Amino acid sequence: MSRAGRLLGFAGLCALAVVVALAALRPAPVHRDTIYVFGTLVEIEIRGAPKTDARAAATRVGRLLREVHDDWHAWRPGGALSRLNAAIAEGRTTMVDPRLAAVLRRGRQLSRASGGLFDPAIGGLVALWGFHADTPPTGAPPAPDRIAAVLAKRPRMTDLSIEGLAVTSTNPAVQLDLGGFAKGAALDLAAAELRAMGIADAVLNAGGDVHVLGRHAGRRGGRTGGRPWRVAIRDPFMWGAVAAVSLRPGEGLYTSGNYERYFDHDGERFAHIIDPRTGRPVQEIVSVSVLDTDGARADAAATALSVADAGDWARVAAAMAVEAVLIITDQGQIWATEAMRDRLDPQIAATVRVFGQPHGPAFRPGPGPDAEGAQQAAAAGPNGARPDVALPTPAIQTPRGG
Ligand code: AMP
Ligand code: MG
Repeated sequence: MSRAGRLLGFAGLCALAVVVALAALRPAPVHRDTIYVFGTLVEIEIRGAPKTDARAAATRVGRLLREVHDDWHAWRPGGALSRLNAAIAEGRTTMVDPRLAAVLRRGRQLSRASGGLFDPAIGGLVALWGFHADTPPTGAPPAPDRIAAVLAKRPRMTDLSIEGLAVTSTNPAVQLDLGGFAKGAALDLAAAELRAMGIADAVLNAGGDVHVLGRHAGRRGGRTGGRPWRVAIRDPFMWGAVAAVSLRPGEGLYTSGNYERYFDHDGERFAHIIDPRTGRPVQEIVSVSVLDTDGARADAAATALSVADAGDWARVAAAMAVEAVLIITDQGQIWATEAMRDRLDPQIAATVRVFGQPHGPAFRPGPGPDAEGAQQAAAAGPNGARPDVALPTPAIQTPRGG
């Protein structure tokens, strides 16, 4: 080749390198979609995938979530679960679809592990308190004798018999309400669907319950250039976050909060998480967040730990096989397992007390060496707690202690 030809070839190669470098710097394509299910706006964000693939995947996930929402709805008539509830009340056996059978099996197993603190069979109590409606109830709490009457019938998830697809209950007082883990179970299915469609980097945000795939791919070709998805744990007492967490690929962060659905009566707050032992709403715990790769387990554990007494937190977390837990009490105290504390963004401004090893001795509340392990962190830096997903609706309650 002539000298001029070689020079031309070299210049061509340089130009190609520049084009490739510029392409790598171009922002990754981002596809966003929202659908309204489970009483909340679910946001799907897919990064770094070709537009057509991303759109097709988001459409499939939207359809899946809508189906699950209709099938698992606890009070709207016409869905598979409401048919099953009607059959249980009449002592009949019902055939359900494989997806519902699987989620019921999972719910029964998680309920057992929680020692019955998480129990999707207490739909009768949830309804009695008025939470089987699209808007929170108004007026007075139910009369104590009506609560006692439901409790006396002892509806339990373990009353449920699931033989293949045939479901029945030995106890007609069982009324299934999957609300305590439906979002987690649904986002598990949605994440699996995205993966099956070749999506590597995405976030699913169901009103603050978040599940991620891969990373926040910031640049085209993303996975190497991306950073982890950052998610906030909201402050239940004021608008803002108490902490932020960087999620690893495949992880989810699920939060139960008694600020989500509640009513006030005579200066007392009654929220939608019910203690199956007393039949009454939980009051001392305002928020529980669980970080885990299994959404159904994390969601169920967040509900169970909202109900558990402080002395049982570590035991219940261990029994449900979740390690990273953060609990906010009505006094505004923040407690976390060591595994969770290690995952919190170091720039958080809140004080976090460690409540013990999930596999170690049970934590006893009150002052002591555990409480001394408080982490007083520096003020949030410029990138500190800025989350990749929007915080859900503003929190509107004040700590009881002040
Ligand atoms: P979550 O926000 O995940 O804690 O779910 C709360 C929802 O779960 C409520 O609105 C009820 O539908 C249902 N629920 C309330 N108390 C319990 C409980 N102890 N076990 C299981 N589900 C519950
Ligand atoms: Mg839950």
